[in-house]
Amino acid sequence: MSDCLFCKIIAGEIPSKNVYDDEYTYAFEDIDPKAPTHVLVVPKRHIRGLKEAEAEDAEIIGRCHLAAAEIARQRNIENSYRTVLNVGPGSGQSVFHLHVHLLGGRGLKWPPG
Ligand code: AMP
Ligand code: ZN
Repeated sequence: MSDCLFCKIIAGEIPSKNVYDDEYTYAFEDIDPKAPTHVLVVPKRHIRGLKEAEAEDAEIIGRCHLAAAEIARQRNIENSYRTVLNVGPGSGQSVFHLHVHLLGGRGLKWPPG
């Protein structure tokens, strides 16, 4: 999608600190980290968000989570991390290209605020 921030990041038109890249997914450091590890994992194919996702998107959404798990393993935080999808403006979603937040490297409270 031509006016999508994360599509531009995936295309390399906007710089990012890449941490993972495969055929289906791309991951990069969040520009405003909320934890020592705060990585965004995005599908390379534009999906607006979880509530717009369809059955055909199930595999790619799963792949985003598996990529997050792999990054957590690489960073030795695999016993204490969280994956989050903000859905809709009321949850804080500000970029409308589906993304999984990977947060870790500090204590994580439950329930989240
Ligand atoms: P959300 O609020 O769930 O839509 O998450 C969007 C995330 O994108 C926020 O955590 C932002 O800090 C992050 N973000 C916005 N612009 C950039 C950028 N250019 N590079 C990396 N992360 C970004
Ligand atoms: Zn996009």
